[in-house]
Amino acid sequence: MVGLAEPGFVMTSPPSRSPKFPLRLDEVGKSLSAPRTVLRPQRPLAHAHANAVPRAPAAGLGMDSDDVRKRMVLRLRAIGVVNESVLAAMGAVPRHRFVDTALVTQAYEDTSLPIGHGQTISKPSVVSRMIELLLGGANARASGHPGRVLEIGTGCGYQAAVLASLAPQVVSIERLKPLHDKARDLLAPMRPAHLRLVYGDGMLGHPPNAPYDSIIAAAGGDAVPAAWLDQLAVGGRLVAPLRRAGTQQQVLVVVDRTEHACEHSVFEAVNFVPLRSGLGA
Ligand code: SAH
Repeated sequence: MVGLAEPGFVMTSPPSRSPKFPLRLDEVGKSLSAPRTVLRPQRPLAHAHANAVPRAPAAGLGMDSDDVRKRMVLRLRAIGVVNESVLAAMGAVPRHRFVDTALVTQAYEDTSLPIGHGQTISKPSVVSRMIELLLGGANARASGHPGRVLEIGTGCGYQAAVLASLAPQVVSIERLKPLHDKARDLLAPMRPAHLRLVYGDGMLGHPPNAPYDSIIAAAGGDAVPAAWLDQLAVGGRLVAPLRRAGTQQQVLVVVDRTEHACEHSVFEAVNFVPLRSGLGA
């Protein structure tokens, strides 16, 4: 498959045609070699809490200054993020506005942080790499942007803001009402009209705005729900963490929809919060 082996990613299985859906790792992952790198977008919450010690802001380092984000972008380049539009979006979105006041000094470190309700904000390196992967989809390559995007797992809304600075239409779904409300409030000052926040079960996708050119999941289940594939446009690409049945091991899976088939590829190990069905209070 053209364009899949973006720098920084390790593809651990060759692309495969027409997998059964819902896609499960015991079907796709039989020939996987052991992943070489583990991306940890959402560390175990206990670790995130342990590291999240309130610190005094460094003198002269205002979080509203572009310099802090420029430094983060330099670090993203150093670890292999190459797409200039992704780097520009990461440099533009004020991540410190999405984390608790006590944690703002860590907002531009490559770390996940607690956002309440047992969830975390994803690491900048993982957000940027997953969006880079999305941009490798056929429709995204043709248009130069991710097109119509569906994000599953809004959380505090950070990744939705990054996606909205790249795409003409973004729908982001969250199943926890307090987080959906939090994201709405945090995004209000910068919220563009083309970003739609939905309170709902993302496992069902969001049919009213389908089909999507890009689908990105911020939570990992043990199958890619068939609804996501149904709502993926021809030429569209889905990027999601997928858990190997019976284990805690997750890998990043990319599914490309062509006119007559779906092709999937498996990338390196990741560690996302679980994808859960139904609504949570
Ligand atoms: N996108 C966020 C990461 C949020 S963490 C960021 O920008 O950092 C993942 C989120 O997925 C959690 O808020 C969790 O509640 C949500 N989630 C899990 N299962 C879901 C489902 N079925 N539908 C919608 N959201 C879900």
